Amino acid sequence: QKDLHSTMTNRTSYFYDPDVGNFHYGTGHPMKPHRLSLTHSLVLHYGLYKKMMVFKPYKASQHDMCRFHSEDYIDFLQKVSPNNMQGFTKSLNTFNVGDDCPVFPGLFEFCSRYTGASLQGATQLNHKICDIAINWAGGLHHAKKFEASGFCYVNDIVISILELLKYHPRVLYIDIDIHHGDGVQEAFYLTDRVMTVSFHKYGNYFFPGTGKLNRIFIVGAESGRYYCLNVPLRDGIDDQSYRQLFQPVIKQVVDFYQPTCIVLQCGADSLGCDRLGCFNLSIRGHGECVEFVKSFKIPLLVLGGGGYTVRNVARCWTFETSLLVDESISDELPYSGEFPSTVCLPAQYLEQIRQTVFENLKMLNHAPSVQIHDVPSDMLSYERNDEADPEERGPEENYTSESSGAFPRSVLYESTEVFTHHVITADYKEKKKTKISRKDKGLLSSLFTLTIFHQSVSTQTLRLLHHHTSAVQT
Ligand SMILES: [Zn+2]
Repeated sequence: QKDLHSTMTNRTSYFYDPDVGNFHYGTGHPMKPHRLSLTHSLVLHYGLYKKMMVFKPYKASQHDMCRFHSEDYIDFLQKVSPNNMQGFTKSLNTFNVGDDCPVFPGLFEFCSRYTGASLQGATQLNHKICDIAINWAGGLHHAKKFEASGFCYVNDIVISILELLKYHPRVLYIDIDIHHGDGVQEAFYLTDRVMTVSFHKYGNYFFPGTGKLNRIFIVGAESGRYYCLNVPLRDGIDDQSYRQLFQPVIKQVVDFYQPTCIVLQCGADSLGCDRLGCFNLSIRGHGECVEFVKSFKIPLLVLGGGGYTVRNVARCWTFETSLLVDESISDELPYSGEFPSTVCLPAQYLEQIRQTVFENLKMLNHAPSVQIHDVPSDMLSYERNDEADPEERGPEENYTSESSGAFPRSVLYESTEVFTHHVITADYKEKKKTKISRKDKGLLSSLFTLTIFHQSVSTQTLRLLHHHTSAVQT
């Protein structure tokens, strides 16, 4: 399996903020940022840093976050703290913060760190500074435009993909977290510029409850096609069954869609023995997905995600770092023997899923084309060369928020597809006075994403959108 004759190593950038592992969601909360420090010490211990450019990442500003999120939500995240949260009762409810997504000391700082790292990874890929960018702190795929969800507050994935879209006509998003990548799917639901593919557990009210095997369909002449693919899976899926679906599906999607960049969310809660998960992947099996995606040799942004049995998460992401830099550590890392006996899913079930997925793919346009337009300026500008020294990681002073004009304005690709925003807004007109549904919020989220790149959205539409978003919060 291993590409033994390959001597060329990819240029890999690795982002790690020394403080990101010191945040605490609170006693008893399954999300432990400490897993990030643990992963990093293994990466250092195995000498993997020698094969990568290691950076202390940029910290995302409120402005960066508002590229996707609503201003009042981000403003709230920035202001709320355990000491003052009593005064935010209404907002806590509106923004879904409190239970699964608690208020903890340094919440905004935490978001700023993991988001900044993903964003910088995207920028480096755009400027061909690296071929692979790794941010294990990122991958918080449930965060929504208007609210927190499933331990995620700021969606670093959506923000990074928006940055990648400045240079890349087609971005493929692949999600192997056990949970459905709902926040990312929602944000790019109406565009063919991003294709989202999520493999996850579906059924029995498993969080977040979305992501059933969908039929990709066309909603009328002017609509954007739904470039999203969901592969719902059952409890206990093992390496072999997972591979039998993952590899042919991803191969087909890559051949078909021809992405110019791939974002891979590597949630480790799909491993066996996860505190919250119910799959049975081994670290080797999980890593095989990463290796397979890497084998296409397409610029790759690798992100973390879920993962709640801390020691396994750290082993998994260390092992995957080693795969990404073509360094063998598999004999040393204790990654086997800890997983329960595996469950092979019925062949018929796998075949049925595979068939449906392939039928869906047939309905899509091959590699949708794009037009060249002016682009918004870069989020980060590079003022001097990047450093590769792991001790003195690329200082953040290297990066300023927003372009100072030092970098030439880039090329923006815009989809030739016209999206049915007016169809959707017409629908909103009727519901003007009713409370906006969760689904509609999702569509709004997707529309807003489009407006960043599509000047064609009319003022009237924007006014309507504005009206409806205000309605959400009042
Ligand atoms: Zn998860």
